[in-house]
Amino acid sequence: MSPRKSKPEIDLVIPVYNEAGVVEQTYAELCRVIDPMPHKFHIYFVDDGSEDATVESLNALARKDKRVIVLELSRNFGHQAALTAGLDASQGDFVISMDADGQHPPEMIPQMVGLFEQGYDIVQAQRIADGGAFSFKQATSSAFYRLINAISGTQMVPGAADFRGMSRQAVDALKAMPEYHRFLRGMVSAIGYRSVILPYHESKRIAGRSKYSLGRMFRLAMDAIFSFSLVPLYIGLSAGVFFLCLAAIEMLYVYSFWFKGDTSTLAPGWSSLMFIVLIASGIILIVLGFIGVYVGYIFQEVKRRPIYFLKGRAE
Ligand code: UDP
Ligand code: MG
Repeated sequence: MSPRKSKPEIDLVIPVYNEAGVVEQTYAELCRVIDPMPHKFHIYFVDDGSEDATVESLNALARKDKRVIVLELSRNFGHQAALTAGLDASQGDFVISMDADGQHPPEMIPQMVGLFEQGYDIVQAQRIADGGAFSFKQATSSAFYRLINAISGTQMVPGAADFRGMSRQAVDALKAMPEYHRFLRGMVSAIGYRSVILPYHESKRIAGRSKYSLGRMFRLAMDAIFSFSLVPLYIGLSAGVFFLCLAAIEMLYVYSFWFKGDTSTLAPGWSSLMFIVLIASGIILIVLGFIGVYVGYIFQEVKRRPIYFLKGRAE
């Protein structure tokens, strides 16, 4: 691993959705960290169709500071799409993506840049549990990572947030993956390159509330599972084979009565028949459901729709 050329240009990509009153603080904290650094910075704020005064706040920052670039999406496309818009627009040698709510500590930036300068392509921050009170989000997140790592060929770092730095080469690799259902954490693992993990403690949100409702978290998990794994299809398949075997055993069992010439003890068989019918239709529906989801994903992919639309750019 050879060190890179001195003084790379650094881009920050920050997706923002309804964070009026939060972005100013985030910006101020960022400046405290990056102003003393010798590197040239650009800050890409991607407004993901906010309905509050976020865009005005961002535009005010852009007028004041020429490092700030505001990309305005035409509507709310979701966190992963907003991140993609920022990565597409970025031009620096090292691109750091982070949240706008202060949960990704800017103090980590110098360390991330340092690791990039040493030669790493991907510097992935990993949230470490505080060990405090039980948190629903942390519990579901760790269960999710166990599941996805068990059923997908791509290993993903548990607690890896969308807080990471990527070299130009890695960003270009990511840009070559145009899929519509995006789970960037998985996609970043899939591209390879030299990567390093940097643990951090997540801070509290500066203000406002999380935009990841339960429904949105579920959709993100679905995107991850169905775009990174074919295992759900095999679950149905193996359950089907299992029940075919059961049916064969039952056939032999019934045949044994006929063989002995003693069919009078054979019950009319309503209950067993019902049981098999119910189980079999359950399995068929589940398998059909899995296939349906994959067909839906394929449908959305083949449409080749852009992942986002830009409405404006201010710098
Ligand atoms: N975000 C976005 N579009 C959305 C939802 C969220 O750009 O549709 C941004 C949000 O403004 C924040 C980041 O994505 O900067 C992470 O969102 P949030 O803090 O709500 O998620 P959490 O930290 O609770 O997982
Ligand atoms: Mg947050």
